[in-house]
Amino acid sequence: MPAVSEILSNHFTNLPKESLLNAEQAAQKYVPNTLGESFLLSAAISLTTHEDIRQLIELAITHGFILQPVSSGNNWGYGSIAHSDEREVVLLDLANMNQITPISKELGLISVQPGVTQQQLYDYLKDNDWPYMTPVTGAGPSCSILANALERGYGITPHTDHFAAVNKITAIIPNPEFWENSAKTCLYESGVGTLDLSNEKVVDHSFKWGLGAYIDGLFTQSSMAIVTDITIRLAEKPEGFTSFYIKINDAEKLDATVRFIRDTLRDFEGIIGSINLMDKRRLLAMVAENPNGNGSHSVMTDEQIAELAKKNDVSEWMIAGSIYGQKGVVKAVKSLIRKRAGFANQTIWSDGLLIKLGKLVSNLFPFGFLKAAKEQLKALDEGIDIMLGKPQQVALPLAYWRNPRVQPDKSRIMNPATDACGLLWYAPLIPMNEEKIREFVAFIRKTTPKYKIEPLITFTNLKHDCIDSTIPIIFDLHNPEARQNAYDCLNELYEEGRKRGYVPYRMNVTQQREVLSADVMHWQIVKSIKAVFDPNNIIAPGRYNP
Ligand SMILES: Cc1cc2nc3c(=O)[nH]c(=O)nc-3n(C[C@H](O)[C@H](O)[C@H](O)COP(=O)(O)OP(=O)(O)OC[C@H]3O[C@@H](n4cnc5c(N)ncnc54)[C@H](O)[C@@H]3O)c2cc1C
Repeated sequence: MPAVSEILSNHFTNLPKESLLNAEQAAQKYVPNTLGESFLLSAAISLTTHEDIRQLIELAITHGFILQPVSSGNNWGYGSIAHSDEREVVLLDLANMNQITPISKELGLISVQPGVTQQQLYDYLKDNDWPYMTPVTGAGPSCSILANALERGYGITPHTDHFAAVNKITAIIPNPEFWENSAKTCLYESGVGTLDLSNEKVVDHSFKWGLGAYIDGLFTQSSMAIVTDITIRLAEKPEGFTSFYIKINDAEKLDATVRFIRDTLRDFEGIIGSINLMDKRRLLAMVAENPNGNGSHSVMTDEQIAELAKKNDVSEWMIAGSIYGQKGVVKAVKSLIRKRAGFANQTIWSDGLLIKLGKLVSNLFPFGFLKAAKEQLKALDEGIDIMLGKPQQVALPLAYWRNPRVQPDKSRIMNPATDACGLLWYAPLIPMNEEKIREFVAFIRKTTPKYKIEPLITFTNLKHDCIDSTIPIIFDLHNPEARQNAYDCLNELYEEGRKRGYVPYRMNVTQQREVLSADVMHWQIVKSIKAVFDPNNIIAPGRYNP
């Protein structure tokens, strides 16, 4: 039997040479990941048309190999390639399938293919005068808009929940039986899309739920199909905008901080996007260098933290959020927030005098503590860009905190996977109440140091009643002890966390295989549905499918 790469090259004779990689080339390009996992690939292929993908599916069924689709392949901390069975795996790279199709500029509806990155969409909107924001994430400019929505990722612009903003999905269903029966097309569209006989077919792009059973959601955190296009509803650039950074120096004020966030999000829904709350260590990991050196496998001491916090003027907790709306509304909400934040030590406004003066002074005298201030202002500026939908790499240096080989450098496109950063995310949902959050903070601070992992805490409030925490477990990927500690740490957080009611909203590919139980009804139903969409089980069989 010919090798898989030979089958592909015999079939796709018109592809450019660089679109088809053999096992060795594929391993070099696609396997590096922040989890320290190894994956076997037999080949990789880059395709750009629906018809080529359909033919690839046919080949996979005939020859019994697996397809692992990726869009930008940057699922850092979670893994882009899922574990699979004993069959050979072909990586399907969709990065070059990157068309952007305007649906309605007036309504802010736009369709993107898998390869469209945050930067590409941002440039398109800017070049074509679309007054809308790109749904960016902390992962930055090189990441796919579509894949992040399929992962049900979130950001901090007003359309925080990225899948919630997806109105329409087009996908190739890997079951040829459907192709025969449904007007000879392999492309799925919703019940509304199939009824619409107009040329423009607009309504399906603006209505998420279709008609009858809602199917589109099955394409997220799953492997039912290959998604080729999504239409997203963009958030309009507001007439008025300001970001706030609220510093809280007293650790005892965590309860008041949580109440502030909950009430603010409830009272100003639609005006304030989401709110981030970060602890001192997390802030330091963003703005300072690791005092132990990036090669060390040890946590910062209290003395080191105190010294760094003083030098960088970092508080115990910091709240970050933005107000979007008409100028008058922003002004009114700003004054209410200022009053409500009275319990805190300082509130910095992006349009305030403090930032303007700070920039002036630190630009004029960029040394000593002003140098640290300048770095911080730069980070604040980039944070503000993110809240306005401009992709930035401001969050990425975090992944390099324990990487002794490569320094983070925002002047180039950073890639924590190819730079061999070690990172696993623990991303649990937490019940929104003061006591639980206090308990969670103590739990993280007690657990991660046992494994020599720095406890870096961020809470993102997606709604007033829904809070997700992202704990980056950062380790030196080339240190076997550190890697083992990182996995053990994640395991304890996951298992002990479940007992306290903290449950991940997203998991890395190894956890998906190891901790999810095939016995529970939820996953049994997923398996049955998967068998309908993909009866030969050829699309990433191990992805969220225990
Ligand atoms: C410092 C840092 C900050 C981060 N901040 C955020 C953040 O703010 N929010 C957030 O959500 N994430 C964040 N991440 C995590 C992650 O890097 C992003 O979510 C990233 O966008 C996901 O990778 P990707 O878009 O390249 O997806 P890919 O790796 O391309 O795909 C992810 C998965 O989706 C499936 N898939 C992809 N495309 C298709 C398709 N067309 N059809 C079918 N299945 C497909 C694949 O099987 C794959 O397993 C962060 C990571 C780091 C290191």
